[in-house]
Amino acid sequence: MDRVIVITGGSRGIGAATAVLAAKQGYRICINYQSDDTAAHQVLDEVRALGAQAIAVRADVSDEDEVISLFSRVDLELGPVTALVNNAGTVGQKSRVDEMSQVRIMHTLKTNVLGPILCAKHAVLRMSPRYGGQGGNIVNVSSVAARLGSPSEYVDYAASKGALDTFTLGLSKELAGEGIRVNAVRPGYIFTDFHALSGDPGRVSKLEPLIPMGRGGRPEEVAEAIIWLLSDKASYTTGTFLDLGGGR
Ligand code: NAP
Repeated sequence: MDRVIVITGGSRGIGAATAVLAAKQGYRICINYQSDDTAAHQVLDEVRALGAQAIAVRADVSDEDEVISLFSRVDLELGPVTALVNNAGTVGQKSRVDEMSQVRIMHTLKTNVLGPILCAKHAVLRMSPRYGGQGGNIVNVSSVAARLGSPSEYVDYAASKGALDTFTLGLSKELAGEGIRVNAVRPGYIFTDFHALSGDPGRVSKLEPLIPMGRGGRPEEVAEAIIWLLSDKASYTTGTFLDLGGGR
């Protein structure tokens, strides 16, 4: 079976590292992104240079019309999706809950919870034998924040990842009899541009002394876990969480 992977938020950080590793494994790749065409096309060039058939598709994962268009383009240009990585995510500026606006909280929840649920829905419509599919795999990119809570930083973000974990559990059981595995990775502090969103681009380096392993993680280390969970080597694994937090 041809393997077709959709990586949401594939233009930077963990998503981009996953796209590069997927190219080395022979997947056809859809790199989704929200706004940064230049970054997405850099990753596209990189995976094509590795010999992968690939496309870059701009779509806001929290808008169902855009998600429908995304998966339709994948159908036409790569074939139906067999692997989904729900990686796109966002975080607001570091603050206490009593200082957060409704707009910020809604943006976090829409991107980090509604987005993965909508993308999973449209992937399942292609993967499930109920609709003529042949099974597939989903990996949700959660965070160790789901079990630590991120007090005085971004409790809304931590809560969104907690919801994603519960979604992972429920969906894995719902689909276990249909040849679709659903798992999650929970990264800790990883060196990406993500931390600039919270107003602290140097956050990972600053916090390294608090990490039991004494260092931040690399996006490639998270990508390895994602690609393993998607592979047949993880064939009896569903509804699980792989923490990549250096011991946090
Ligand atoms: P990043 O470097 O900030 O990249 C985020 C990606 O998501 C970009 O490609 C961005 O596209 C895309 N994106 C954001 N909102 C989107 C939307 N509504 N629709 C489609 N794409 C959207 O982030 P990262 O550090 O690689 O994080 C990836 C995932 O890992 C996130 O879910 C994050 O919560 C999780 N995580 C990260 C860390 C960490 O320390 N870095 C730790 C734990 C968990 P544009 O640039 O085009 O907007």
